[in-house]
Amino acid sequence: MENKVPDILLIYTGGTIGMVKDYKSNALKPFDFENIKVKIPELKLLDCKIETTAFPNPIDSSDMSPEYWMKIAEIIESRYEDIDGFVVLTGTDTMSYTSSALSFILENLSKPVIFTGSQLPIGDLRTDAKENLITAIQVASAQQNGQAIVQEVGLYFEYKLYRANRTTKVSSEQFEAFESANYPNLGESGVHLNFNEPWLIRADKSKPLMLNKNFDAKVLILKLFPGISESIVRHILNCPDLEGVILETYGAGNALTAEWFTEILSTTIDKGIPVINVTQCVSGGVMMGHYESSVHLKKTGVISGKDITTESAVAKLKLLLGKKTPSKKFKILFETPLRGEMN
Ligand code: ASP
Repeated sequence: MENKVPDILLIYTGGTIGMVKDYKSNALKPFDFENIKVKIPELKLLDCKIETTAFPNPIDSSDMSPEYWMKIAEIIESRYEDIDGFVVLTGTDTMSYTSSALSFILENLSKPVIFTGSQLPIGDLRTDAKENLITAIQVASAQQNGQAIVQEVGLYFEYKLYRANRTTKVSSEQFEAFESANYPNLGESGVHLNFNEPWLIRADKSKPLMLNKNFDAKVLILKLFPGISESIVRHILNCPDLEGVILETYGAGNALTAEWFTEILSTTIDKGIPVINVTQCVSGGVMMGHYESSVHLKKTGVISGKDITTESAVAKLKLLLGKKTPSKKFKILFETPLRGEMN
């Protein structure tokens, strides 16, 4: 039987990668993405069939929202049967949020969904867009014994493939813009494209893809800093719309021990609003109770985010709130890895 080449769908949502410089005004503007093969003729040499689709009005990733996350998910769902791998192009600024969210929206995913973008526009002489795009397509096409090697949401950038929900954007200047501090890279591109197989998710293909569509819960990231004001914290946590809080704490999950702070947290949790403890540190995680300065958090019922990233915590919190998870189960579910997002 003749081997069929993989069908890849490129989904362009916006961001630097799809921009060119207008040499008259010197400003970056989106180009017609349907012409991507003209801009990167090398794409024709790849051993796969590439289709493209683009948002009608490409956005800067600062404008990303759950509504757009759902649009990406629905495009993937609509082509899931006939496409072997998806490459999603977004701006890098919020790519870790978007790709983490997609990992939670796409339940029972067993095909590659690879996010990428670039620091310099495709038309720039020194662009990183070509390598990122070409290799992301190769990652999405990679198969072994007729099965996709990657069966999860990945993020490919500057020679490295990461689990998307483990990433954070760490540089607005370096080509190496992302990091996965708490989980090994899933692959690396050198002379060969190598996958770190033991660390990849092996999906259960018997279950059909399902979309978790309710991602509108109103959540807040509250980053602690020395001198944080009681009146402001009180005001924010009293907002009637608030449904969940990510508390960005110090070090191994530590926070101020002032009585007012414990009291506000405990009132918030008593109202049924989950509070998740995530560390401000780039690597490592939360160990509540390890220091005196986190015992009060544990006692009030704050949930441990362990070694999850803030970006992933936002998505997971929205997922569990959207599923109307009862408060009794919330802690146990949040502290359980659902998509390989925590150890
Ligand atoms: N501001 C752009 C965006 O995130 C930056 C980029 O594409 O890298 O949409």
